[in-house]
Amino acid sequence: MNENTDTLPPETCEILESLRQCPRVPAPTTLLSTVLLRTGTGDAYASAETPIGPVFVAYNQRGISALTRADEPEQFEVGFRKRFGRPICRVTALPESFATAVAAQLSGERSWAPEFDLRNATAFERSVLLKALEIPRGEVRPYSWIAKEIGRPGAVRAVGTALGHNPVPLLIPCHRVVRSDGAIGDYLLGSDTKRAVLDSEGAAPDIIERLGRQGVRYIANPESHTFCLPTCGGDHRRIDYTQRGLHSEREALAAGLRPCQDCRPATAIAHAMAANVAGGDDFRSSLSSLSDSVSTFALRKGSVMTGTPRFSLATVVLDCSDAHALADFYSRLLGWPVTLSEPDWVLLRCPSGGTGLSFQAEAWYRPPVWPEKPGEQTKMLHLDILVDDLDAAGTHALEVGAVLAGYQPQDDVRVYFDPAGHPFCLFVQ
Ligand SMILES: [Zn+2]
Repeated sequence: MNENTDTLPPETCEILESLRQCPRVPAPTTLLSTVLLRTGTGDAYASAETPIGPVFVAYNQRGISALTRADEPEQFEVGFRKRFGRPICRVTALPESFATAVAAQLSGERSWAPEFDLRNATAFERSVLLKALEIPRGEVRPYSWIAKEIGRPGAVRAVGTALGHNPVPLLIPCHRVVRSDGAIGDYLLGSDTKRAVLDSEGAAPDIIERLGRQGVRYIANPESHTFCLPTCGGDHRRIDYTQRGLHSEREALAAGLRPCQDCRPATAIAHAMAANVAGGDDFRSSLSSLSDSVSTFALRKGSVMTGTPRFSLATVVLDCSDAHALADFYSRLLGWPVTLSEPDWVLLRCPSGGTGLSFQAEAWYRPPVWPEKPGEQTKMLHLDILVDDLDAAGTHALEVGAVLAGYQPQDDVRVYFDPAGHPFCLFVQ
């Protein structure tokens, strides 16, 4: 202090002089972290051991806020401040309660799940992350499962993006979410790490990928007449998939199987069974009759059928090049919700029941030519949709992406093309 003290009041000079006499002692190392945490203005962090090696774990009064691989502390602090906009300081170790909860979570002990601070996540991201938290150690779920479980079946890609923003990987196990085709997929700490962590948890990623390549999406449980996602229960390493593997929900349905209550593998069946409507009843009776006609799944596999099977038209399938885009169009045109979403297959069902409408992506899809011409791709089938007002319905169809056909053969029918080029008719009675 070099300021001239002549003009200051005597008592201030006295204080300044006393301060000069104070021995220079450093602040306690815990002061900054204590202030940040107690005032809720910042976070503290420490390193912790995990299956992927040392990581940095950040926390505050709300819970654990971040986890990354332990690289340079300075780099972590810069990244943290940039992402979360809060100061952070290092401490020697995690508080006992957090250390216990982290260790328990990493070892799969579910009774000690830590609290998380997800305030920087959007509501959608939070719902995705909390759903991922439900996936047991040693099991995996598809991205589409998360989307379906949180009530956003069409948001499969957004689920992937949300998981990519997981601030606490490993602890919220986004590594347990894989592609519907069984491919392990991306991971924010790298695909190799994802595979290694799944392996360390007993999820056998090589088996998961092999099943995916073989097109096995579900497994049949003949004893309980249910079907599951392949890793449900975590005992997939001991399952004979040549006997119990199923390739689609439709195959499971045809075998009279119900979705497992634990892994909740399907929506179309559950939706129809839950719907207290005429269509739902039809669907249910067709299911139970199918179930009656095959005594066990093994019998079906052996093509042993007894009695007279009953048939119920469950869905009409339109081929196209982009199942999600076409489903989106018809969902908006008809007001029907998506009840099943897979990468190449989307199912819509009328909320009041009846036959559903499915969309299947085909790599070699060719749109039909209409009116038909010799030698060109014919339309094979088309949808006739009854409306009460041809003009108003036509306006709505155009708004959601339909194109009015140039050739209109009848007065009380109007022909449009959907985005995949299928002609469809709106008509009045
Ligand atoms: Zn299951």
